[in-house]
Amino acid sequence: MELRTPQEIKIMAEGGRRLGAVLQRLRSEVRPGVTTLSLDRVARKIITEGGDTPAFLNYRPEGARRAYPYTLCASVNDVVVHGQPSNYVLRDGDIVKLDLGLKHEGFYLDAAITAAVGKVPAEDKKLMAVTEESLYAGIKEAKPGNTLGDIGYAIERVVRKHKFSIAEGLTGHGIGRALHEDPTVFNFGDRGTGVKLVSGMVIAIEPMVTVGAGAIVQLKDESYGTMDRSHAAHFEHTVAITDAGPLILTRV
Ligand code: MG
Repeated sequence: MELRTPQEIKIMAEGGRRLGAVLQRLRSEVRPGVTTLSLDRVARKIITEGGDTPAFLNYRPEGARRAYPYTLCASVNDVVVHGQPSNYVLRDGDIVKLDLGLKHEGFYLDAAITAAVGKVPAEDKKLMAVTEESLYAGIKEAKPGNTLGDIGYAIERVVRKHKFSIAEGLTGHGIGRALHEDPTVFNFGDRGTGVKLVSGMVIAIEPMVTVGAGAIVQLKDESYGTMDRSHAAHFEHTVAITDAGPLILTRV
């Protein structure tokens, strides 16, 4: 993977600040009665008006049948990731994962939050809190001298403590001049194993956590849902590894 210079990380931090602001705006729009397609329109408008490019729009992931036609991924309840915005009307009690990326001055940023629609059950609230906690536990380990295994271990430890599961086969990734770069950032691992972290690496850390089992299935619109239909949460930040420690570029 390529390492970023401090100047490049500065540019990415500005892109991340913008992305975080869009996600914050989307979170404020989430309420019963709103369609996920309307959230997509808001995201697209703000990103393009800022002079940036939506990262997911027209992106064709490896193995996908066609390019992705939306700016936002909006995944509701048991859908884990890659849910396509639609005329689905958000209902009181839903949880919706908002995953968003943009390209700013040649660099990609990627982040996700899970938002509650109205009043959600206690179990889903806990799922969201634990997933976010696991993200920050992982980020804490993102410093020079540690390894990817340290990040995965920290995430997994939080998830297991609460008897939830890590969605299988879904991972974080390096990010920079491309949306998805090496290395693969697993949400589990063993301390001290895997790729050594050095200053200048930029990675997207993104735990995807389920209430039930971790098995997932690909759905008709190419999104991924849990096999047992249990609910899932997802939080993601783009993080730079610096001599001063982890630098969250996409703070919401
Ligand atoms: Mg990502």
